[in-house]
Amino acid sequence: MAVLITENCINCDACIEECPASAIVGADESPLKGAEHTYVKPEKCIECVDAAVPKCADVCPTEGCIVWDMPYTETYNDHFVDSDDYVIRVHKKKGIMSPEVSPRPFRENISIDDRTNRVSVGETLKLYN
Ligand code: SF4
Ligand code: SF4
Repeated sequence: MAVLITENCINCDACIEECPASAIVGADESPLKGAEHTYVKPEKCIECVDAAVPKCADVCPTEGCIVWDMPYTETYNDHFVDSDDYVIRVHKKKGIMSPEVSPRPFRENISIDDRTNRVSVGETLKLYN
């Protein structure tokens, strides 16, 4: 992980096509019950580590809509598996694709404090004027 799309999302779906990891789905495909907005699958998000900035936040028209969450690593396994914000995919053979089973790359330059406080991705990377 991951980044998290908040309730500020206006469901424009501009971010979906931009994601290099196919980690984003519209509200109608969200695994969350009664989802009202676009959703990032943390088990797929790679924080766009090979790009200058996360592509989703770069195209998002809504300031502060996409925020940082914890790294998708073993240390934060329970954070993702036990969260009401996520439903982690269950693989037929491997079981739940938790951080313990399938950790994802993350941006080491984003502090744990900023992640804990769910600071806006655009704010940390100066995407806004
Ligand atoms: S680009 Fe932003 S506002 Fe549009 S669907 Fe994605 S997160 Fe929501
Ligand atoms: S940070 Fe990158 S990999 Fe993660 S959801 Fe956004 S576009 Fe996809």
